[in-house]
Amino acid sequence: MYAEVIIEYPVKSLDKSFTYLVKEDDQKIIKVGMKVVVPFGKSVVNGIVIKITSAKPDYETKEICYIDNPDVYLNAEQMDLGKYLKDETLCTLITAYQTMLPSALKIKNQKHSYDLYDTFISLNTDLDSIEKYIVNHERSHKQIEILDLLKTQDVLKKDIAGAPLNTLIKNRLVKEVKVKKARINAQSKVEVLPVLNEEQQKAYEIVNNNINHYQTYLLQGVTGSGKTEVYMRLIKDVLDLGKTAIVLVPEICLTTQTVKRFYNRFGSDVAIFHSGLSNGEKYDEYLKIYHNEVKIVVGTRSSIFVPLQSLGIIIIDEEHSETYKQDSNPRYNAIDMAIYRAKKNNIPLILASATPSLESRARADKGVYSLITLNKRANNMELPTTTVVDMTLELKKRNFIFSDILKEKINERLEKKEQIILLLNRRGFSTFINCTMCGYTYKCPNCDITLTYHKTINNLRCHYCGYVIKKDDVCPKCHEAALNYLGLGTEKLEEELSKIYPNAKLVRMDQDTTSTKGSYQRIIDDFADGKYDILLGTQMISKGLDFKNVTLVGVINADTSLNLPDFRANEKTFALLYQTSGRAGRDKKAGEVIIQTFNPDNEVLKYVKENDYNKFYLYEMHIRHQLKYPPYTYICILSIKSKEYDLASVKATEIKKILSRKLDKKSIVFGPTPAAVFKVNNVYNFQITIKYTFDEYLKNTLKEIDEMCASDKKVNIEITFNPSRF
Ligand code: ADP
Ligand code: ZN
Repeated sequence: MYAEVIIEYPVKSLDKSFTYLVKEDDQKIIKVGMKVVVPFGKSVVNGIVIKITSAKPDYETKEICYIDNPDVYLNAEQMDLGKYLKDETLCTLITAYQTMLPSALKIKNQKHSYDLYDTFISLNTDLDSIEKYIVNHERSHKQIEILDLLKTQDVLKKDIAGAPLNTLIKNRLVKEVKVKKARINAQSKVEVLPVLNEEQQKAYEIVNNNINHYQTYLLQGVTGSGKTEVYMRLIKDVLDLGKTAIVLVPEICLTTQTVKRFYNRFGSDVAIFHSGLSNGEKYDEYLKIYHNEVKIVVGTRSSIFVPLQSLGIIIIDEEHSETYKQDSNPRYNAIDMAIYRAKKNNIPLILASATPSLESRARADKGVYSLITLNKRANNMELPTTTVVDMTLELKKRNFIFSDILKEKINERLEKKEQIILLLNRRGFSTFINCTMCGYTYKCPNCDITLTYHKTINNLRCHYCGYVIKKDDVCPKCHEAALNYLGLGTEKLEEELSKIYPNAKLVRMDQDTTSTKGSYQRIIDDFADGKYDILLGTQMISKGLDFKNVTLVGVINADTSLNLPDFRANEKTFALLYQTSGRAGRDKKAGEVIIQTFNPDNEVLKYVKENDYNKFYLYEMHIRHQLKYPPYTYICILSIKSKEYDLASVKATEIKKILSRKLDKKSIVFGPTPAAVFKVNNVYNFQITIKYTFDEYLKNTLKEIDEMCASDKKVNIEITFNPSRF
């Protein structure tokens, strides 16, 4: 018996299988998907079995050294999904499989065991012998106490540890028993389920009537319309059919509240999976899934690969979120993977959002997806009213950060003890420091970008490569005390707020305040509990969060995202502002939104003000059509990266020539041009953009280019289909 094995090195030149002989003893055990350790060249490496065969190859084969952890391996569905992932993203097969495994189970050398145990003490002999021992050791009161206790139950060792226990163990009257322990234990709560309203009921029925068939649904419902409630009901039905469910959510900040809802309703049937978990926690959750101990997985992007069996439904919440696209190798989109899995299992996939991506909504228009809409908030509350404030007029009144109206509304809410959310999509204190005397600006020496000042730690940081320096009191160039702080960040916003509202309790949520484990959750819980009056932060605060007492949302500067050099700038801005607005007035009190901008006539803001996704959609589709952007075309970006400018430039030109020669004549190739941030971490980045509708030569040409570049150690090329960022 032979096994074809792919090995752990994720390089193109080794992206093929090698055949090994399977030892007699291993023949009964070995399965496709198992991890093995094999000789390779002069060393020993890890690999995955991708095929088992009896055909003897016509070259001499070495033996597999051993099978590593045969209890946990990639199942047939995962093996198949890996091949699809490779085809879709052009990554190596080993990379595809590694992506599906939690860190603790990845193919690599590791000695560390992630299993966690509780040690219990239990009787080791029959009751007669115990009684005899007790009679003979009358004066060992402590030992007798322990034995009596153990007659009825096993006891945690740590509760009875000490010399008497040690004596009992030594005399073999009792023994230690290890029981595997899970790090995360969910509990359900008794809930009164709301009666679905008419719209929800209809949405529920449309999917439920077709629950055993593949169909992708776009569930477009305004913020607070009860989308979550609808798909939780569907999941319940799926479980009743003996099947399972995957629910993808964007980020940890969102998972916390969603997870709580799932725990409350489904308790220990739920496993969770996101980057906020430790490796040990992920390991435990993965094993629960693997051993069919749970029926629902709620998690971020990579949860789409979990080995849940008898899958019955897949939900992707906030489907427009960028986080579903991975921007490092393999550059996959979880929605594509979900569609593939849903088709294979012949089950429904629900994409839910208040602001669907233009791509998804266009597919719904064409009938590829089935569109279901929820137009009212579940509790019949009105959507918030929005005011757009022209900041050019405010500047004349010397209002640099807060307009008069925003200040007034904040005051009002503070008096009424209602809560406020403020959005500013920039972290740090000031994003730009320059010297008013000599014009010096702090820039990152490794990247093509200015450094952001973080006041609390008094240093300047690059948000691209992490470069850090201490800030001087005077200009490092002309030594004048003339440094000027420009570009408002969340840290400065917090400082300004505390000056104007010294009695308000503020909490800031951005990457800097949420870097430690559990900090997200703490901020969200505390704000929900009313421990703070104002929550301010970056786009982290914009999605999914449901706070009952928030009645005012302020957007400090809507222009930061409108001005991005990205064809999706409008779409992202609309989603950000609409979603943020949706945080207001979700419960019994009406909500209000103030948006500050220097472009008050901007069309996008107009549609945000009207809470009208559909009008925005038509407006933006028209622009995309004229400029031949998605969803009217597809886009693929090649990034050609090197530490040496010339090498990158020459290679980029060479690739451009190949593309122009080989691609369909209807496909358009732009570039090479320097990327938006041209230099990151001393690596230059040239981009070539391909716009296409259907191009039968594309995949093969890209594969060819990829292989051509595989041997070049100085130039790296990355291929991204449908990039989320431009
Ligand atoms: P969405 O996912 O669309 O933002 P949710 O499912 O989170 O909406 O619902 C918003 C709020 O309305 C939640 O607090 C939820 O418990 C409540 N809710 C949902 N459906 C109903 C209903 N039919 N009747 C009353 N309240 C509901
Ligand atoms: Zn940098």
